[in-house]
Amino acid sequence: MVKQPLHLCTPLLLSSTLSGRCQRDVYLKLECVQPGGSFKVRGLGRMIQKAQSKGFSKIVCSSGGNAGMAAAYCGKSLEMQTYIFVPSTTPKYMRDRLQAIGAEVVVAGDVWEEADLKARQMVDAAPTRALYVPPFDHADIWEGHGTVVHEIKQQLPQGVVPAAVVVSVGGGGLFNGVAQGLESSDWSHVPIVAVETKGAESFNAMTKARALVRIPAITSLAKSLGANCVSQRSLDIVLSGRPVKSMVVSDRQAVLAVESFLNDERLLVEPACGASLTIAYNESLLTEAMKDNTSTGPIVIIVCGGNAVTLDALRTWLDTTA
Ligand SMILES: *Cc1c(COP(=O)(O)O)cnc(C)c1O
Repeated sequence: MVKQPLHLCTPLLLSSTLSGRCQRDVYLKLECVQPGGSFKVRGLGRMIQKAQSKGFSKIVCSSGGNAGMAAAYCGKSLEMQTYIFVPSTTPKYMRDRLQAIGAEVVVAGDVWEEADLKARQMVDAAPTRALYVPPFDHADIWEGHGTVVHEIKQQLPQGVVPAAVVVSVGGGGLFNGVAQGLESSDWSHVPIVAVETKGAESFNAMTKARALVRIPAITSLAKSLGANCVSQRSLDIVLSGRPVKSMVVSDRQAVLAVESFLNDERLLVEPACGASLTIAYNESLLTEAMKDNTSTGPIVIIVCGGNAVTLDALRTWLDTTA
């Protein structure tokens, strides 16, 4: 398949501020500037393009967050009808944004499970035309997310190998894709630092139990990391023995990193993304992340982005986590 992908090749920025703080080169892979506001267009775009070439003509998604935004963008670009089922709790500004892109927003029920059920019913009624698009758990999605590593390899100075790649983890789609991209770039020895916030740490629970763990409730304000359980593939990758460092940071640390990043780089990202940035903004977290890591290479942070943030929300979070 040689179709033009739907995602952009994003800038890889050598941050002088963060490199100074960390006393080694820190590169920022700016997924926050992707269409749809996050890296999600990489994987969802790959999945949806493949499905279209097999004859699918409709996209059905049950995310009122960044996956929904990416699905809406893909639908618009590929001229496919796009239905986003959301619960009534989805903020109006997100519904408006989805509609502005051209998606049909269907409010179904008061909780996500109800909206998702309605989405699946629509797909079941037209199984050869309508594609159900999950937020993270599909092989095509991981394949698409993996392109972020291929770009990083092209963009770093010749021969430079990262000491670590830092990613935020929700359901593990980005993590799986980055692991796969490192593998296909002959960088399977490069450690992945997998960061979550406390109250959304289903990946960390999995690494400790060495089995899938369902955490009972998401209490973190980093809602884009709020998967109760990670994908089976994430477990398989951890069990394969590739180097992975799982880290859990506080909401406070994530929100402070969002604020510092806004001031330093003039970019506004979600706390879900701030979680990854804490590694470069917090000396003790950096030490923990790089413990036993003898490489002198740069740290590459995937700046995963996100829509669910405004300056007002950031001010509120700074207050409520103080
Ligand atoms: C989706 C998302 C994540 C989590 O990605 P997973 O693939 O679910 O692990 C993190 N940050 C942002 C901004 C996201 O949109």
